[in-house]
Amino acid sequence: MKNALTFDVEEYFHAEAFARVLRPEDWPTLESRVVATTGRILDILDRERVRATFFVLGWVGERYPAMVREIASLGHEIGCHGYGHRMIQHLTRPEFERDVTRAKSTLEDVTGHAVLGYRAPTFSIMRETLWSLEVLCEAGFRYDSSIFPIVHDRYGIPDAPRFPHRLKGPNGCEIVEFPMTTVTLLGRRVPVAGGGYFRLMPYSLTHRALRRINRRERQPAMVYLHPWELDPDQPRLPVGPMTRFRHLVNVGKTEGRLVRLLGDFAFAPAAEVLARTGLLAVGNPK
Ligand SMILES: [Zn+2]
Repeated sequence: MKNALTFDVEEYFHAEAFARVLRPEDWPTLESRVVATTGRILDILDRERVRATFFVLGWVGERYPAMVREIASLGHEIGCHGYGHRMIQHLTRPEFERDVTRAKSTLEDVTGHAVLGYRAPTFSIMRETLWSLEVLCEAGFRYDSSIFPIVHDRYGIPDAPRFPHRLKGPNGCEIVEFPMTTVTLLGRRVPVAGGGYFRLMPYSLTHRALRRINRRERQPAMVYLHPWELDPDQPRLPVGPMTRFRHLVNVGKTEGRLVRLLGDFAFAPAAEVLARTGLLAVGNPK
């Protein structure tokens, strides 16, 4: 059973935790760390002989096209994380359309390959933003990986399916959804295997959850991380203690845990995992 390994390639300052203290105009004035930390991830994947999906933020791809080309040249899949990292509920439909098409065409121009997959900033495909799936489909995306099927203060569709499935919009457009991974514990869905949850939980729990999903439920898991989650030396931004805790908890442990995870389970890029499930027919280079 292959699981999907994915990275949302953005700077530490793009995280939603800082949206209240930073404006996009501030971004170019801050220290950039994304190329170095993504490089560390690429080294780890090379050593462990694992390929992954990198959902690159258009803002980053425009500034560092050589990095995007390098990721693609190593055999990894390039996906799209939108352009300006704004949660979809803060955008109108035309604004969202401009955001994703700008990012998609930037990445396709850089790599020369079609970008099939999309990951929304901060998992912001929720019930009130489901219209965005139609836009993605019309823009030529074949799959989305943005829905977190849990109850959460910032995102989530609590009763959405837990595993990959097809979605059909009212416009007749079809797209495949690869949701973030959860386990059910005492009838409740608990997020596992990505981001802050991966950093907060002891590795043994993540391991047990993935094994259960692969063996008992016979489903692939979706693992997601950000380069800044492997960067304990990132600059500290002026936020409150709770926000800082959520952003930085256990960042020093992520790299070691990721290496263990790659040794304990089998991984592939998201599009390949979806192709194995039969949900996605691949092989349509631009
Ligand atoms: Zn992001």
